[in-house]
Amino acid sequence: MTHTAEILCVGTELLLGEILNTNAQFLCQQLSALGVNVYYQTVVGDNPGRLARAVELARARADVIITTGGLGPTCDDLTKQTLARCFGKKLVRDAQSERRIRDYFASRLHSGGMPENNLQQAMLPEDCVILQNDWGTAPGCIFQAQGCHVIMLPGPPRECCPMFLERVAPYLRALSGQTILSRSLRVFGMGESAVEERLRRRMNAMENPTLAPYAKTGEVELRLTARAESPAAARALIAPAEEELRALLGDLIYGADVDSIEQVAVALLQDRGLTLGCAESCTGGLIAKRVTDLPGVSSVFKGGLVTYCDQAKESLLAVPRALLDRHGAVSREVALAMAQGARTALGCDLAVATTGVAGPDSDDRGNPVGLVYVALAWDGGSFCRQTQLGLGRDRVRVCAAHHAFDLLRRHLQGLPLELRPT
Ligand code: AMP
Ligand code: MG
Repeated sequence: MTHTAEILCVGTELLLGEILNTNAQFLCQQLSALGVNVYYQTVVGDNPGRLARAVELARARADVIITTGGLGPTCDDLTKQTLARCFGKKLVRDAQSERRIRDYFASRLHSGGMPENNLQQAMLPEDCVILQNDWGTAPGCIFQAQGCHVIMLPGPPRECCPMFLERVAPYLRALSGQTILSRSLRVFGMGESAVEERLRRRMNAMENPTLAPYAKTGEVELRLTARAESPAAARALIAPAEEELRALLGDLIYGADVDSIEQVAVALLQDRGLTLGCAESCTGGLIAKRVTDLPGVSSVFKGGLVTYCDQAKESLLAVPRALLDRHGAVSREVALAMAQGARTALGCDLAVATTGVAGPDSDDRGNPVGLVYVALAWDGGSFCRQTQLGLGRDRVRVCAAHHAFDLLRRHLQGLPLELRPT
């Protein structure tokens, strides 16, 4: 059976914008992975009247209510009292929770003893399942009433998140009795709207698995989510849908269930036993950073040169002065010479290079913002892709780095290096 949850985050500090509601983001991601629908999330201050009204709304449109915050010992922590009242439950003192709270304070040296108000945290709704808090003092709880599962979690993310993962997720899994499995296909080289247009008819017709596109910077994630009685049955539902997407998008899909395009490119290098270097102008070291963010790359990554000005390109990469003068630094010719220069300078099998205009202004030759040349050089050849990456300095640089990794993985997979027009 499918369940619908509503999230109520309690805390005046959230409404004042003092802290970001990271609990809601975390819970929504987790609930989506569990196949639990979320249609609404609410933030409410530490005010019992407004919280009660939010509960009224939530229980009319969801059968699982998850609250975070307001379980602490101070007078503004009113979530349990309010939820218990809304559902006609009494609060009763739980002896085990009380002992845990007393022990917690006793074990802390110099704590100066336990302020009595902490015992308020051991008051829990009658007949509830107590969610022991191994990450702090306030226990959470779950109770069922009036057709609703009410789940209360503490506010601090370092308590809320592990408690959800270890205590609430198993509860919700048992509730649905079903497995939810997702597979994420990553697409580079086609914009979100074009991907959607190509898939829309299929997407609308799909029910199990469902297909959802997510736009990321410069790429698109397609998530297939299946619901079945076992993981194997869910995988069997996903497999033909994935085949179909691969038939529609071909080599634009660079990976499935991977973290990033650099992860795919580096894995291919490791597979083939080849080494990489880079020469970066407009990306300013981003390619090298993204490669070295991956653990265990020392066997494949030789290094990178950030050559921002013409003189650095000339002296460190041996880009001929005449080439720079004739074509300018932002040119196909210079990008290729940079990649070849990096191969020689670093003694690597493959090298990528970027040169372009990240903005905000066009360069002194009038090249527009977003024009970037991305080159790849290998033993016996080289290739340069001219790209127009739009506006926004950060975005241009991130996308230029994506292109470098895309060239690399296409070369290593024996695919065409030029992107097909879409
Ligand atoms: P509380 O359980 O209401 O006493 O919350 C304790 C602390 O947890 C707050 O001061 C915040 O720093 C943090 N916190 C509460 N709610 C959230 C939330 N929804 N997202 C992130 N942090 C939160
Ligand atoms: Mg609070």
